[in-house]
Amino acid sequence: MTRTFSSLTAVFLISLVQLSAAQAPMKWKIHDLNRPLPPIVDPGTASTQDAPGHAPSDAVVLFDGKDLSRWVDGDGKPARWKVENGYMEVVAKTGNISTRDSFGDCQLHVEFAEPSPGKGESQERGNSGVFLMSTYEIQVLDSYENKTYADGQASAVYGQYPPQVNAARPPAQWQTYDIIFHRPHFKDGKVTQPARVTVLHNGVLVQDNVELTGPTAHGERPPYKAGPDKMPLQLQDHGNPVRYRNIWIRELQEGQ
Ligand code: MG
Repeated sequence: MTRTFSSLTAVFLISLVQLSAAQAPMKWKIHDLNRPLPPIVDPGTASTQDAPGHAPSDAVVLFDGKDLSRWVDGDGKPARWKVENGYMEVVAKTGNISTRDSFGDCQLHVEFAEPSPGKGESQERGNSGVFLMSTYEIQVLDSYENKTYADGQASAVYGQYPPQVNAARPPAQWQTYDIIFHRPHFKDGKVTQPARVTVLHNGVLVQDNVELTGPTAHGERPPYKAGPDKMPLQLQDHGNPVRYRNIWIRELQEGQ
């Protein structure tokens, strides 16, 4: 009897939890005409190999092919990468470049082209990187017929997650990353919500809302360290002349 009662109670409690979880976000009646409509956004246009597309109307354009006015080097001085023909190109030994502005949760669009003809092997072939919050690297590498360790190939969360598939294009062709990133949350110096990232490489889903173990690094997986809610976006100088064009970002409302 007691057992039956306990089971029933458990079932009831579980149902209650499920019910409240399902109902919690539903403060609006179904099809409620008073419910605010989403803002209207011009979605822009997609890029082709020959020409970059246009960013959505509510995006911040970080690089439109003309200048590096939104970027600085490691010393906070104007970035010294080369700009020509609508793209920027890594200039070896000038260092990583960072945005002047800081970002947390975001949707980020980046296009890159690998050096052609390809030179070097493994990690020495077209290496660069997109560092979210200057801390979490989505690897940029020439991964077209170039073998390296799985968690270091193009679109890997470096040292943590290989992409689900290798969707790389050959050198010289423009490639896209579309990244959705949620920053880590901290309380009293400890992480309460790890960072999460989704990545589409050339339109193909390669990272599906993966939970980062902490900052990305070479040869180690360091733990999270509490920091600001927003930090600059960074592109890596790994010594290879990788090109970038059409970079834009949309800041996301937190908790969405
Ligand atoms: Mg890299």
